[in-house]
Amino acid sequence: MAIRMLYSKIYMDHKPPDAHPENPDRLKRVLNTLEKMELQINIEEPKVPESTDMYLARAHSIEYIDRIKDLSSKGRNLYIDPDTYIGEHTYKVARTAFAGSIYIVDMIYSGSSRIVFHLARPPGHHAGIYGRAMGAQTQGFCIFNNVAGSAFRALDLGYEPVIILDFDVHHGNGTQEIFWDIPEVYHIDIHDSSIYPFTGEISDLGGSNALGSKINIPMPPGSNDTDYLYIFSAIVAPIIKAVSPRIILVSAGFDAYEDEFMSYIKLSSRLYSFIGSMLSSILYDRELSVSGIAIVLEGGYRGGLEYGFRGFLEGLYRGYLDRNKGFIDDLIDHVSDLKAGANSNVINIGEKITRALRSYIDI
Ligand SMILES: [Zn+2]
Repeated sequence: MAIRMLYSKIYMDHKPPDAHPENPDRLKRVLNTLEKMELQINIEEPKVPESTDMYLARAHSIEYIDRIKDLSSKGRNLYIDPDTYIGEHTYKVARTAFAGSIYIVDMIYSGSSRIVFHLARPPGHHAGIYGRAMGAQTQGFCIFNNVAGSAFRALDLGYEPVIILDFDVHHGNGTQEIFWDIPEVYHIDIHDSSIYPFTGEISDLGGSNALGSKINIPMPPGSNDTDYLYIFSAIVAPIIKAVSPRIILVSAGFDAYEDEFMSYIKLSSRLYSFIGSMLSSILYDRELSVSGIAIVLEGGYRGGLEYGFRGFLEGLYRGYLDRNKGFIDDLIDHVSDLKAGANSNVINIGEKITRALRSYIDI
């Protein structure tokens, strides 16, 4: 079994009208990084399942989908808000990115792979039901919510519960909005609390039918590797253990990497490597029954797409090769050591989250 990767040349056709951080060069960086790693990976073309439009309509309103289609068909390059642009190919590109994100769950279901990474753009986690999510000023470069396609497909295939782990440095407000009242979808979102879209509070626990399934981890600006390690051991690992997901979906953004410019969080490639190892080790955890890990690319604009991405992939491989069956338990056991390295504000946040969740999850 290997890690499978999906990418389509179509993703290069969504182009900004002027200089913009979310542009086709992002994927070129990722592909260059892969080439340098000499992994001998066969990059595959995503399929577009026949159910794509049905799933699009479950994630977004018909009016929104039609608006994107109409604007795109006009053939002009324009901004729909101060951050987000649409050009003549955008509808096709974004629909393919969404479709491929459905397809990666089918790949896991068929048993052909347990880890699939979809190198897609435009990103998706800020795209809500009607476009802008939770009162955000903009859609933050996102058109369709790719990981939402993965999650709805996973539910239809009987993978319950689902965990979406979003470690992009921005809050996945679109994902939270779409799954707000769906209790089978746990959304763990770790983000810089001080930046766009300025949402993702600890007290956002889900709608009345889904309380405790939405877990926000708003990190203070200045947080680093040791703060994240503590949060993974005190919050993320115990939740994974308590929820026991059948599948894990990942919104993988690399914009918290130390040379990136959109946040005040500075992570090294070692932390991304740790996350990768944790995820693939979960597949061998005897106490869990996770069928697979389906990963969708979100943000990352500079070195995150080289060193952060590389670290993450190396971690995925290492976790897979080591088959460390007790990774999650070890992590939980080390919580007090890791606490010693964390900032006191981060420790407070961790404790607040535990208190907020205790009535709903056994952590
Ligand atoms: Zn981001």
